[in-house]
Amino acid sequence: MIVGACHAGLGSVAERCRCKLMKLLLVEDNLDDADFLAASLRRHNVSDIELNHVTSIRDAVIQLRLQRFDVVLLDLHLPDGSGMECVDAIQAAESSVPIVVLSGQDDEEFALSILNKGVQDYLVKWEGETRAILRAMRYAAERKRSELRLNYLAQYDSLTEIPNRQHFQEQLERATARARREGRKVALFFLDLDQFKVVNDTLGHDAGDNLLREMAVRLRRSIRAGDVLARLGGDEFAVLLEGISGALEAESIAKGILELIAEPFFVDGREVNVTTSIGITIYPNDNSDVATLLKNADIAMYQAKEQGRNNFKFFTERMHAELLEYHRLEQEIRDAISNEMFTLVFQPKVNLVTRKLEGLEALLRWEHKERGNISPTEFIPVAEQSGHIVPLGHWVLEEVCRTLNRWQAASLPLVPVSINVSARQFQQADFHRRIADVLRHQNVDPSLMELELTEGMLMEDTDLAKHGLAQLKDTGVRVSIDDFGTGHSCLNYLRRFPIDVLKIDRSFINDIDHCEDSQLIVEAIISLAGSLRLSTVAEGVETRHQLNFLVERGCTVAQGFLFGQPLVAREVMPFLEDLIDDAPGFATARLPTNKQTA
Ligand code: C2E
Ligand code: MG
Ligand code: MG
Repeated sequence: MIVGACHAGLGSVAERCRCKLMKLLLVEDNLDDADFLAASLRRHNVSDIELNHVTSIRDAVIQLRLQRFDVVLLDLHLPDGSGMECVDAIQAAESSVPIVVLSGQDDEEFALSILNKGVQDYLVKWEGETRAILRAMRYAAERKRSELRLNYLAQYDSLTEIPNRQHFQEQLERATARARREGRKVALFFLDLDQFKVVNDTLGHDAGDNLLREMAVRLRRSIRAGDVLARLGGDEFAVLLEGISGALEAESIAKGILELIAEPFFVDGREVNVTTSIGITIYPNDNSDVATLLKNADIAMYQAKEQGRNNFKFFTERMHAELLEYHRLEQEIRDAISNEMFTLVFQPKVNLVTRKLEGLEALLRWEHKERGNISPTEFIPVAEQSGHIVPLGHWVLEEVCRTLNRWQAASLPLVPVSINVSARQFQQADFHRRIADVLRHQNVDPSLMELELTEGMLMEDTDLAKHGLAQLKDTGVRVSIDDFGTGHSCLNYLRRFPIDVLKIDRSFINDIDHCEDSQLIVEAIISLAGSLRLSTVAEGVETRHQLNFLVERGCTVAQGFLFGQPLVAREVMPFLEDLIDDAPGFATARLPTNKQTA
């Protein structure tokens, strides 16, 4: 082992690094060559290089395991290997160390050819002066650093500095292979922050970025050292847990994560509260390849979100069965659309002051050949996820127009008919134009058309929603917010959105009879709507007690089984007729208890 002596002024590269000792491992079995290098370092008074000399690959590997080197100077003819073999062995022992190979005059070409195979530079023995040798070593170190940096960038997320999706997938691949060999289990967690968008929208993107960074730090703390945490993109994170005992352990880790995330964050000096939803899949229980594992965890995560967020959900066999059912239903919806198997029913909305028909809500019905009536609550979500809701919604729009025209042809007075619009439809850039086109083609007065949107659709991206709503209003249709009170409306936005009606969700109406909180909420919504000059429609009114409560609080319109089940178009006609003369209007008892439609 030889240590160089002090020297200054070896050129700019050396000067830059002068403050730092460079540890050099020389792997060279020819002692003359080794002595030559040591002597020339001494001759030039080089003090910032610590030269360590070994004579075989075996010894080099031992040294690399024992200490960190800044560069390896590697002869390619060693007693225990030659050529590329030597390079491979060094790399296997320490992949991050730069390598400069030493070649003789006769194998310079070979040295050149392996330059991009993990070798940063080569030197022809010892044809250059010391200065050239040193420069080669330092450039090699520099090149290796940028190579490592590039590797890092390809594998790590630059915002949070944790592994990215690419890296995570590779780790997952390895982990499942290991688990297969060793008969162990791997859990995959898929996390998605709840309402991260709201943070971004209200506090700004920089705050959002900071939150994600903090999130990564906190998640890191909640898992074990060997577990892999990655950011898959946006507000999605994933965790890979190897050697997990089973669902019970996964559950306790998931609970730990939820608790840790639920603690307030401090972003830019402000307290921010967020929650997360976690989907969990376990290999090999949910027996799958890597791509499917991620997909399964994603599906489970969505289920967790649907069940009210801030919780976790396993992807289980039952979930798998649901998945198959989903695909079956999706196919059947496709067929039912092309075979025109869907029909519409209309539920009356009653003016609580005049007791007359104020409007109608069009609701889809589907009578399945084998399974009988399938509820919209079952098929609408599938139609939404699969995108079938777009053509189906278009059909609803046209069918409502045709029905209005038939009623008009029968010389009946008309009332506005509302249709339910789903997010997928509202998100279409030309949705307003489609509405306008249909109304124009069918020659229907736009004021007879009302669109029911839900809070979630509007709060997702408030700027876009405002723009979309303005476009819809320009067509002349009315807009109402359906199921109001169940989502997370920001009242500020509500004030700025061009809407006409709030429909109080039927869960609140249902609870009026026995829950004081619901009474307060209903009261608050009615008074809020009043101050925003919106009308309120109470959904799902079933009892007289509920009706009285609503009338007393000033609710203007109600809809529900108390007044009637949804009716087919023909059954609506007598109620339209009632509008002509001074008929007594909707007495709740007068209405047919409809058998065929609900
Ligand atoms: P929604 O828009 O809130 O419609 C009201 C639902 O409440 C209807 O269920 C209606 O039959 C039911 N309902 C009305 N009065 C009462 C009552 O007094 N008590 C109870 N318990 N329920 C009552 P339906 O027809 O099963 O529709 C369920 C949901 O499916 C609708 O909720 C709507 O979100 C969706 N939907 C229905 N038709 C369409 C459509 O054409 N397009 C879209 N996108 N969604 C639709
Ligand atoms: Mg509705
Ligand atoms: Mg509703």
